[in-house]
Amino acid sequence: MTPKPAIQLRDFIRNIPDFPKKGINFKDISPLLANGEAFSECTSELAFHMPENIDAIVGIESRGFLFGAALAQLTGIGFVPIRKPGKLPSETHAIAYELEYGTDLLEIHRDALNHNHRVVVVDDLLATGGTAAATVQLVEKLGAEVAACLFVIELGALNGRSKLDHTPVISLLNYDD
Ligand code: AMP
Repeated sequence: MTPKPAIQLRDFIRNIPDFPKKGINFKDISPLLANGEAFSECTSELAFHMPENIDAIVGIESRGFLFGAALAQLTGIGFVPIRKPGKLPSETHAIAYELEYGTDLLEIHRDALNHNHRVVVVDDLLATGGTAAATVQLVEKLGAEVAACLFVIELGALNGRSKLDHTPVISLLNYDD
């Protein structure tokens, strides 16, 4: 059995009820980021769960950049950003994904990945899974393989995993609300 770390990540996630609107329990990662030891523990735990032979860490804008870039730095593996539309300067592939009202786009640079790459996708939180599923599709469109999706937080009741059915999903903290 792995020893329990002195730091419990859960202690550094702040729950903000009714943000950004009524009925949403927002999981605020600010206290985790603000505490050097907790952020470092979080990055180490993500690294511990990384599959072998990963060529790139794919982070989803914008909180996925924080954890993805820290993980890239710790492991010495390169980082690839998935961005909101119109932000990436070179040629892109885009994918539309469902929001609660309407759709939005995510983009990746066309030359960022190819069939030689095996990657992990990183974001702060898995809710309905729409964002991560769109990201997996984008990565696969470029021919790369997604070895796993890594999240700091999973809102288990929303069953986002079901949208990622052919990809292993790993989360550090699970919440029921
Ligand atoms: P989804 O596509 O529904 O899985 O939503 C995931 C994205 O929305 C993540 O990038 C999160 O940052 C954000 N998100 C969704 N629900 C919450 C929540 N309750 N608290 C904080 N962030 C959230």
